[in-house]
Amino acid sequence: MSLMAYTANLGVNQQLYLENQGTQTLISLNSSNAGQQQRQSISLTTGNWTVPPTLFTTKFGFVLQLDTDKRQYFIQIQANGINTLNNAPSLNNAETVPLQEIADSAPQNSNKIEFEPMQPMNKMKMGNMSMSMNPMEMRMGNMSMKMGKKVKSTSTKRFCTQCGHPVNKSDRFCSSCGHQLKD
Ligand SMILES: [Zn+2]
Repeated sequence: MSLMAYTANLGVNQQLYLENQGTQTLISLNSSNAGQQQRQSISLTTGNWTVPPTLFTTKFGFVLQLDTDKRQYFIQIQANGINTLNNAPSLNNAETVPLQEIADSAPQNSNKIEFEPMQPMNKMKMGNMSMSMNPMEMRMGNMSMKMGKKVKSTSTKRFCTQCGHPVNKSDRFCSSCGHQLKD
């Protein structure tokens, strides 16, 4: 999608800027009076322009006609305000104001780099490695590591003194080799 943007000179000291950004229409009026710059902008949800906008000069001021995929809009543009008109004004004898198209010089996405919001560091998974916080725990394959909360000490576990097989505290004999365990 290319950028749809136009400018128009509404007189010596007034310039209008129109842009269709997605479904938004941005209307900006820049005025300079006695060296003072004034700018008023509005953004309207209009939908996508289907044709370039038309600007009329009427006895009520400037009226912008927008044809979008939603409907037709008439927007009155005056130095003291930009307003959407509820009813279509009579534009039969109205003159149009030429609009200059602003060339889409740069690729549109070049100035719209969006960063993915950082995921909160609670859980992380990578292949067979996973990590979670509070308490911190890390798993890698069948290896795991815990930090933070009290972790049951592995020293309470018993191992067979003969073959090294883990045994329960209550066991009297090793389940692996049958070695008699001492209390
Ligand atoms: Zn054993």
